[in-house]
Amino acid sequence: MTSSVHSVAVDERQWQQHGACGGLEDARFFHPDNERGPDRLAREEGAKRVCDACPVLDRCREHALSVGEPYGVWGGLGEGERRAILGLRRRSGTPRQAPS
Ligand code: SF4
Repeated sequence: MTSSVHSVAVDERQWQQHGACGGLEDARFFHPDNERGPDRLAREEGAKRVCDACPVLDRCREHALSVGEPYGVWGGLGEGERRAILGLRRRSGTPRQAPS
């Protein structure tokens, strides 16, 4: 299965049409069941390399943070990294969605 940005509705998010992940397999960004350790790390590193070259990385990252995307690599961040950022924002009183 291929997708644009992780098979989500694009009508409200035209920026996703410019994502560097367009046409890539979702499996590069989302872990399969039971993937652990070095395999997960290697897959995530590969996904993040795609994000590093993406022209809409900042939009994607803020989208994922604002809606609390629980799974996958979005905007160059993995699941744990997003949880950490959201935790910091919560503790500092910063809204989930950064002001635009
Ligand atoms: S930042 Fe990554 S996940 Fe987001 S659109 Fe770009 S390539 Fe896709």
